[in-house]
Parts: sequence; C-alpha cells; structure tokens
Amino acid sequence: MKSPAYFIYARKSTDDEERQQLSIPAQLDELRTFAQKEGLVIADTFIESKTAKVPCRELFNQMLNRIEKGEAQGILAWHPDRLARNAVDAGRIVYLLDRNILSDLKFPTFWFQNTPQGLFMLSIAFGQSKYYVDALSVNTKRGLRQKVRLGWMPSCAPIGYLNDRLTKTIVKNPKTWLIIKQLFEFYAEGSHTIIEASDFLAKKGFISPYGNNIHLDRVKKILKNPFYCGLFWYSKELHPGKQEPIISKKLYDTVQEVLSRRCHPKSKIRVPKPFAGFIKCGECGMTITAEIQKGYLYYRCTKKSKVHDCSQPFIREEKLLEQVNSVISQVSLRTDWGEHMLAKLKTERDNISQSVMVASKELKEKVILINKKISFLLDSFVDQTLSREDYLLKKSQLVSEKKSLEEKIIELSRRPFDWLERMRSWVISALEADKIASDNKNHFQKREFLNMIGSNLTMKDKTVDCDLPDQWAALESNYRSVLYQRTVLPLNYARLLSIL
Ligand SMILES: [Zn+2]
Repeated sequence: MKSPAYFIYARKSTDDEERQQLSIPAQLDELRTFAQKEGLVIADTFIESKTAKVPCRELFNQMLNRIEKGEAQGILAWHPDRLARNAVDAGRIVYLLDRNILSDLKFPTFWFQNTPQGLFMLSIAFGQSKYYVDALSVNTKRGLRQKVRLGWMPSCAPIGYLNDRLTKTIVKNPKTWLIIKQLFEFYAEGSHTIIEASDFLAKKGFISPYGNNIHLDRVKKILKNPFYCGLFWYSKELHPGKQEPIISKKLYDTVQEVLSRRCHPKSKIRVPKPFAGFIKCGECGMTITAEIQKGYLYYRCTKKSKVHDCSQPFIREEKLLEQVNSVISQVSLRTDWGEHMLAKLKTERDNISQSVMVASKELKEKVILINKKISFLLDSFVDQTLSREDYLLKKSQLVSEKKSLEEKIIELSRRPFDWLERMRSWVISALEADKIASDNKNHFQKREFLNMIGSNLTMKDKTVDCDLPDQWAALESNYRSVLYQRTVLPLNYARLLSIL
C-alpha cells in the first residue's frame, strides 16, 4: 500500500484567548521538522488565521474537500485544538476517519492512532477544546456581572454615548448627547408625535444609512431607554449606572407619561397660535381659540357654551396683537423699585440655605432606609423566602424610588432658588415690559409675560379687556411684602417640602 500523503494545517486566530498559542511560523517550523523526522509526505500546506470556535473556516473546509477527493489521506497539525474547537468541525473529522477517507492524523503534541480507542481519545481532545471555549464564555459572563455591579452597562453604548475603550467605561458622545437631551425635552412638551420626534432628529442630522428618517420604533426605543437618566437594564433587572446622565429622572418620567398617554398620533402641521386658550370670551365665558382661514390666523370664541348662544365675531391676529401690546406697555416697573427688589431677592437667597439643609437631611435619611431595604430584599432572596420575580420587581421599584429621591436632594439645593429665580426674572421682564410689547416676533413671550403677572384677558366685540389695574395693585402690594415683611415669603420648611 502506498504511504499516505499529508496536509499541513496551521492556525492561530487573533482572539485574545489564543494569544498564548504558538505563532504560525513557529507551528510550521515544528510541523516540518516533525514531518521530516517521521518521513511524512506533505501534499500541501494550509495556513489560516481564523477562530475555530465557529464552523466557517474557508481553508479548513477546502482542505477537507480535497481530502474527500483523495488528494491526501492525513493531516498534520500542532494539536487537535488547531483543527476544531466546535462540535461541527470535530464531527466532520471524526466522520472522515470513520469512513477511512482520512486515514491518519499526526500531532507533535498528541499521539493519535486510528483505532476505536484512538478516536475516543481524539473526541476527548476536541471536547476539551470546546470546553475551553465554553468555560471562557462563562468567565466572560462572570466578568460582565462584575461590570454591572460596578455600575457599568456591559454592552454597546446607546446613541448619545460612546464606549471608551481605554477606560472601558461609557462616556457622553460630545457630538450627539445634546441632541438626545433636546429630543427628550421636545417630546416631554407633550404636544408632539413620534413622527415629529423623528423629524426633529432628522433636522439635527440623525438619519438612517439610506437617508430616511429614523424608524419610529427606534425613536420610541430611545425615549424609553432609562440609560439616559442614569439607570440601565441588564438581564431584566434595573441597575443604577455610573454613566453621566444626559437627562434628569424627572424628565425621563415625564416622557414615559407622554408616551403612554399618546397612542394616536396627529399628522397636522402646526402653526403657532400664541394666544389660543389664553383669552376668555367676554360674552359667554368660553375660551378663545385660533384657526387659519385663507392663510391668515384668526382668533374666535370656541362657542362651546350649551346655555348661551354666543354671537362673537372673528378677529384677525394683527388686531389682537395691537391690543395685547398696549396692555403690556401699561405694565412697567419703576426702575428704582425694580432695582431695590433685585437687591432684596439676593439677600433672600442667602437666607434659604438653612431650611434646605433640614429638608435634604430628611431625604438623605430616606435614601439610607431604601439602601437597607434593598439589602434586606437581597437577604430574603438568598434565604429563598422571596421568589426571583418578586425580588426583581421589588428591587426595580426601590432602585427607581431611590433615584427619584436622590434627584430631589439635588433639586432641593436648586429648587427654592428657582422660586427666587422666577421672581427675579419676573422683575427683570417687568422692567423690560416695553421691549416685550414692541417685539414683533416673539408672541409667546407676551403670553408668558401676561401669564406671569397673573392677568386675565377677556375679549368682547373685538376688544381685549384686561383686569390688569386690580391685578397690578395686588402685585404692588405683594412687592411691598417682599420688600418690607419677610414673613409672607413662602419659605418655611413645610412649604419647601410641598413644592417638591
Ligand atoms: Zn363666546
């Protein structure tokens, strides 16, 4: 019988776990020396730099095909694990041996004989290679869990973030995070559809690879991802994350509310109607709404009253604006008053800090309590007095609650000052009333201003009426209070908690 010809097969993949393996030139050196020593005939050499974890090695398959054609009867490789690390490839080799198409395998590191015992040993060697791969994947999973415990989501960063390869953390993407924040703010307004949200993203340059708008499901997925407020899901559990949040938990919750509220999207194009819903009809008391007629914006009574048949006519936007402007110009704050108030507000700010400290201490104690609950929950789960589902559910609730509390603590250091800030901006705009009235572009600013001073506007026979004089007087006395009697300021402890 003619002595069999051999194919040399050398392989080393670029995977991390194969770093310890012999390099390809070193394998070839060893194999050629071995062939010479054993007097083997070499028909061809195959060199591959692919992983053997999955059965898709081109050259390996080519080699087996050529063996089936009878070009060689044996394979020479450094170790069985060079040939196969998955059950399919291992099975293929064993099957070729069974049918005697492959008559021999040679390894410098492993003695093989084509007998039932030899095949058994080979199967074990292949099995070990597979075990090695599987164990590695178990180790990887363990590593991932550790990462989760440290507060890092062990997967690809969502849009708006980047995986920092160096530190193995997730950081904000300087190019996109702000757009994601704006998307949340945009959607939280509650008046926009997902389609509009997708348009919003498209305007900011977020489009699909084919140049279309991002798919609506994907937009929803972004809006539902708690990663942006500092949490993340991993194996069905909600975890607190170390990533810098892009949005607050509160904004996230608002968006979730809007998402659940809005099921039927509207596709109408929006025209800004700054005073719709803001003015009341002087005849029937219903709200004044706005609509487009022949390209012009008109305001009119909704005439929804069931007891009164309202006869009020339409009014063109321009006519309404003229009157609104004159109302606003009536309101301007004396400069010396304004300046005095600003100084007073500044002093107020310093005085609040004390109450804030008390309130935030209480919240911090609540957080400590939740931490205790979480650890108690874990104990119950470990003691098996709690089912896994219950554990996960309760833990997610606590983690979410804790996040809200922590946010309140941060907010507390800011929120009371918000009140002062609003007052301050009020004073500043009252000082600027004239400017606001003559601004012909920003009509929403006018509405905001009128709203801020608490004026009630009514309209009858195309004439806008404003109960400003009384309101204004009330405001003046409020000013006096702020200026001269500190006690009316709503800054006691109870009030502080109630605004949160
Ligand atoms: Zn009416």
